Amino acid sequence: MSTVALVPAAGRGERLGAGMPKALVPVARVPMLSRAVRGLLASGQIDRVVVAAPPDHLRAMTELVGSSRVQVLRGGADRTDSVRLALEAAGDAERVLVHDAARAFTPASVITAVVDRLRAGARAVIPVLPVTDTVKRVEQDGRVSATVDRSDLRAVQTPQGFAAEVLRAAYEHDGGALTDDAGLVERMGVTVHTVAGHPHALKITTPFDLAIAESVLATRKAPDA
Ligand code: C5P
Repeated sequence: MSTVALVPAAGRGERLGAGMPKALVPVARVPMLSRAVRGLLASGQIDRVVVAAPPDHLRAMTELVGSSRVQVLRGGADRTDSVRLALEAAGDAERVLVHDAARAFTPASVITAVVDRLRAGARAVIPVLPVTDTVKRVEQDGRVSATVDRSDLRAVQTPQGFAAEVLRAAYEHDGGALTDDAGLVERMGVTVHTVAGHPHALKITTPFDLAIAESVLATRKAPDA
């Protein structure tokens, strides 16, 4: 009856320009990967974590987060391959979460909401936030062709949670280079449910995001809500 979290962290992370894999970039001296793994385990919802590491950083990541509950393995050629390898290592887990190391400050409440919904019978669950910006459809030449009704649009965060057999089937079935695992599951006709995400679960991609994350840390003692 276990829940295993997969963290595909085998990318180069060049957009942050730190000269190292994004997951190893520190936020207030602690690498994002450490913060993300610690957050998953501290939620009390996760039995085991499997991290897919870049082959040339396997040792560094193992030293950083490896433990009896955290397995670090060699990632694949692309994200899909890394998730597939981590999924194989999840063994007979009943539930599987896929989480971005770059969402290093995801509150425990979000992880708990995803796992609770899986326990209640959902087979796929994603945390989402409303889209607050006005959204336009724009032509190749830069002209606006339409204003999109954003009332039913949501931005998707992680962890994305799945009944393990559903994610396994999706990866056997498909293998397209999607960055969104729930998208694969949707394509199989499985209903994907949503729970409330959280602004602190932002994906740290640019130096600006890094600055935001450091200020999140400064306010971390504030309640989750
Ligand atoms: O590089 P990209 O933005 O596509 O990476 C998306 C996510 O997939 C990142 O978390 C990255 O670490 C992960 N990834 C991976 N294995 C790869 C390439 C990317 O786990 N070979």
